[in-house]
Amino acid sequence: TLEAGVVAVQGDVDEHVDAIERAASAHDREVVVHEIRESGIVPDCDLLAVPGGESTTISRLLHGEGVASEIRNHVDDGSPLLATCAGLIVASSDAGDDRVDELGLLDVTVERNAFGRQRDSFEAPLEVVGLEDPYPAVFIRAPAIDDVGDADVLASWDGRPVAVRAGPVVATAFHPELTADSRIHDLAFFENEAASVPSPEHPA
Ligand code: GLN
Repeated sequence: TLEAGVVAVQGDVDEHVDAIERAASAHDREVVVHEIRESGIVPDCDLLAVPGGESTTISRLLHGEGVASEIRNHVDDGSPLLATCAGLIVASSDAGDDRVDELGLLDVTVERNAFGRQRDSFEAPLEVVGLEDPYPAVFIRAPAIDDVGDADVLASWDGRPVAVRAGPVVATAFHPELTADSRIHDLAFFENEAASVPSPEHPA
């Protein structure tokens, strides 16, 4: 049985829990999902998600509770992590906002609320590297990715990167947890060759 963790200090936590359960079941894997609000749980997790929400709040609580360094260790060990929207902002190396203490898991800079001036939220059919058909991407006050260092761009919208992968980390400016389509969770947790997930003890 896989152990999964969803950072649950704030944001759309339940949706990630559901999406992880769907992705695991599609891969014939059993999973137990833990909600992370304090230190001591992340070290037991095989995979992690950092949800959308309010990046300044998530950042403050991660550092205050000592979860931030546990997340860094998780990624250093090559275990997969999916960060969405506010999660991407927190995972970046520069969010351009003093109130966000970035985890630096991804060598990218982001601009918060980058698409917000035109439209607060929208859905777009996104071409994603590795997916056959467009992904229905829900953007809500989404960030854009500006400078991409040592990371691969998986998708762009309006000419700006909105999904990246760096080793075991996949991050999206949109919310794959808000649609029934679990292909992004598959990509992050079960189909990322750069990430290690324990294999089943009793293969089906
Ligand atoms: N705009 C939010 C922030 O900057 C992110 C929005 C979201 O996660 N949907 O934290």
